[in-house]
Amino acid sequence: MNLVFLGPPGAGKGTIASEAKNLFGIPHISTGDLFRSHIKGETELGKQVKTILAAGDLVPDSVTIEMVKQRFLESDAQNGFILDGFPRTIAQADALAEMKPLDAVVNFVLDRDLIVKRLSGRRVCKSTGKTYHILYNPPKREGIDDETGEPLIQRDDDKPEAILNRLSVYEKQTEPLIAYYREKGLLVDIDASPAPEVVLEALVKVVQ
Ligand code: ADP
Ligand code: ADP
Ligand code: ADP
Repeated sequence: MNLVFLGPPGAGKGTIASEAKNLFGIPHISTGDLFRSHIKGETELGKQVKTILAAGDLVPDSVTIEMVKQRFLESDAQNGFILDGFPRTIAQADALAEMKPLDAVVNFVLDRDLIVKRLSGRRVCKSTGKTYHILYNPPKREGIDDETGEPLIQRDDDKPEAILNRLSVYEKQTEPLIAYYREKGLLVDIDASPAPEVVLEALVKVVQ
């Protein structure tokens, strides 16, 4: 199954993808995670994109498309995938159409006030990327990852100035993809507001 998860930042795409990948037996390919791992590893690409991510701007299409192309060459991506956070522009969607056929584009629908609440309360473990929320999914010990015991951090781009910029980038650059994929008959909407287990159930229903 070749799936794209579309939706605003903070809609819960990563949270649902990390459950759905096990359920469907396909890899979760998050361009945000790929960029963050380059930054952490201090690769050339990582150095190039660090300030772009911190500001909440988009990495240039050519760079992002090339990274996804490379990821698709890996053996685990040959029998389906969940793409999370890609495409984010029409140019990326056109490039993806040349790379892979899609079964569905799942549009995570969430109101702006809940988006802001989810992003501002998000905390992550820097080494594993595991995601928590200070209110909705807190760790057992405040500020500490359940598995690694390391301190949880707030992403730079989850700080207030970057959140507002990311929402406007989303509206300008990514929202047009809803109409783009609806016209192709690929779009399915899901309500991203309930608890993760409910969203996951809705996902299973719409893609089967
Ligand atoms: P995205 O990948 O779309 O940016 P995440 O999956 O990282 O979003 O979720 C954003 C924040 O919201 C995280 O802190 C996560 O724990 C929390 N979250 C995700 N899904 C839900 C949900 N269904 N209900 C409440 N909080 C959620
Ligand atoms: P979220 O799900 O919270 O929006 P992501 O982890 O998907 O965040 O993305 C983090 C950042 O990585 C984006 O704000 C952007 O700077 C960069 N990024 C991720 N995916 C793309 C993409 N498809 N095109 C351009 N930049 C991207
Ligand atoms: P319990 O505490 O009953 O064992 P969970 O820890 O699975 O159950 O979840 C408790 C509540 O936290 C659930 O109602 C769910 O909505 C929410 N929750 C669980 N996982 C997440 C997540 N990743 N992001 C946001 N909220 C979550």
